[in-house]
Amino acid sequence: MSDRPLLMIPGPIEISPAVQAATGIAPPSHVSPAFIEGFGSALASMRAVWQADDRALPFAVPGGGTLAMEAAATNLVAPGERAVVASTGYFGDRMAEMLRRRGADVVLVPSAIGDAPTLAAVGQALATAPTKALFVTHVDTSTGVCVDPAPLAALAREHGALSCFDGVCATAGETFDMAGWGADVYLTASQKAIGLPAGLALWVASERALAAREALSVPPPLTLDWQAWRPIMEAYLAGKPSYFSTPPTTLAWALRTGLDEILAGGATPAAAMQARFALHSRSAEAMRAGWTALGLTAVPVTRQQTAHTLSALWLPDGADASLPSRIAAHGVIVAGGLHPEIRTRYFRVGHMGDVLNHPDRLLTTVRAVGLGLRDAGVTVDVDGAVAATAERLGAA
Ligand SMILES: *Cc1c(COP(=O)(O)O)cnc(C)c1O
Repeated sequence: MSDRPLLMIPGPIEISPAVQAATGIAPPSHVSPAFIEGFGSALASMRAVWQADDRALPFAVPGGGTLAMEAAATNLVAPGERAVVASTGYFGDRMAEMLRRRGADVVLVPSAIGDAPTLAAVGQALATAPTKALFVTHVDTSTGVCVDPAPLAALAREHGALSCFDGVCATAGETFDMAGWGADVYLTASQKAIGLPAGLALWVASERALAAREALSVPPPLTLDWQAWRPIMEAYLAGKPSYFSTPPTTLAWALRTGLDEILAGGATPAAAMQARFALHSRSAEAMRAGWTALGLTAVPVTRQQTAHTLSALWLPDGADASLPSRIAAHGVIVAGGLHPEIRTRYFRVGHMGDVLNHPDRLLTTVRAVGLGLRDAGVTVDVDGAVAATAERLGAA
């Protein structure tokens, strides 16, 4: 990957050589036997990566995370039905807007920037009136806040509501046990921690969620309709071709490679996922050591609520929103702010997926951030920060 600077934004991310090679094949037909086998296998692997049971159905359709969100919103909730959105930033607010457009009765449980709604606040919102579904962002990429989905999924069940988690910046990077926790929808897009180029919307829906769609009084738009896609996914899982709208066959082919790589990290799928989550957690700790040594503070207000897949960092005194371009001058692309209320006051660094297998690239990133800060006139100990990260990575 030497034809451009190192890409350390919260998606798209650096992809592995094997995934990149898989995207280089001649475009397969969606009904060729090899493709049917490959796509079916990728769908089966999704269940393993999501830690979902066999009754839950994986979907891989053309689109992005936003499409997966809108499909969830419109397949779970009919006009007039009540939905609770526990928002931790920009993407929670986006989900609320989609549900409003669907005509749902939306109750937003907000939080201060960098914080998350308390369980008590979410519980109260669910208890006020019968609620169809609870929507939560696992990692809100605009604030770097990570919530613990387990108690929220349990809370939704307690109140007879479905639970839907936006995992676009989390899936395959942050601990998630779909079957174990009884979560109903976990959605993502191919360009984030899954480690592919952009272009596939991915989600797994529980048996309860599928039943809720079947019982829906007003169907969603056809291209978003789980019922339209469901027979296609079931056919490929059964080794048969089927057509509704042409899948991005090259990406669907590479999906198998990407998921197989993830699942190769352990003797069982559960062990592989555990190892994968641990790698993200360890790497995030190491990046944090570097940020601390550079005098940077995180947007999330507690460490427990801080994502492992990206860092959202306040700009220190002296630096301004030009920092990302100053960092780019040192060979690493990071992202600016996204949350409208603080957009020009912070920046974001993605650290998920294959890049975590390359400690040298993480050190390069910390160095580039340090040099960018120095160029902005901030006094920093760049070598000290790189050493702090290296020590945590065991890469000194
Ligand atoms: C990136 C992201 C999205 C949107 O995904 P797109 O593929 O850009 O549509 C939604 N939710 C979260 C949490 C994200 O990080």
